[in-house]
Amino acid sequence: MTSRLCENCGRPVAETHVLCSFCGMTIAISRMECENHPEEHAVAVCVVCGKPVCGDCAISAEKSMFCDKPDHAAMQKEWILIATSHSEFEADAVCLNLAHSEIETKVFSMRDHVVTFWFDEFAIVRVFVQQKDMERALAVLSELQLIDGPASV
Ligand SMILES: [Zn+2]
Ligand SMILES: [Zn+2]
Ligand SMILES: [Zn+2]
Repeated sequence: MTSRLCENCGRPVAETHVLCSFCGMTIAISRMECENHPEEHAVAVCVVCGKPVCGDCAISAEKSMFCDKPDHAAMQKEWILIATSHSEFEADAVCLNLAHSEIETKVFSMRDHVVTFWFDEFAIVRVFVQQKDMERALAVLSELQLIDGPASV
């Protein structure tokens, strides 16, 4: 598989992908519209919630792109992506098991925001935990084989 490097974060993006799945930056000319300004093209997709945003709305923090909700960029500091899934069902299982161990989770689904048929790589549900709980959460999830091992973030 050929890949290019993302101009924003420098990580490889597969040729077929239109978005960098690490930082949310668009790679190809975007046919997405900003969710706040339908007349503007989206330049990025929030790595937390999947909302497409234009240049005016996007917030860039530590080389990742976020939407205009200030708490999403702020999540970078305390919350960490622990699991991604293509199904809400699987994400629910992750959250239930973590809740059992009294670990708080936040879940965001890309499906809340855009029609995902043309960029399947981003059509995912993301589960976040607080950094302080990360090791405990990883232990719980690997024990249950809900994830293969430490998530690569
Ligand atoms: Zn990137
Ligand atoms: Zn967001
Ligand atoms: Zn906008």
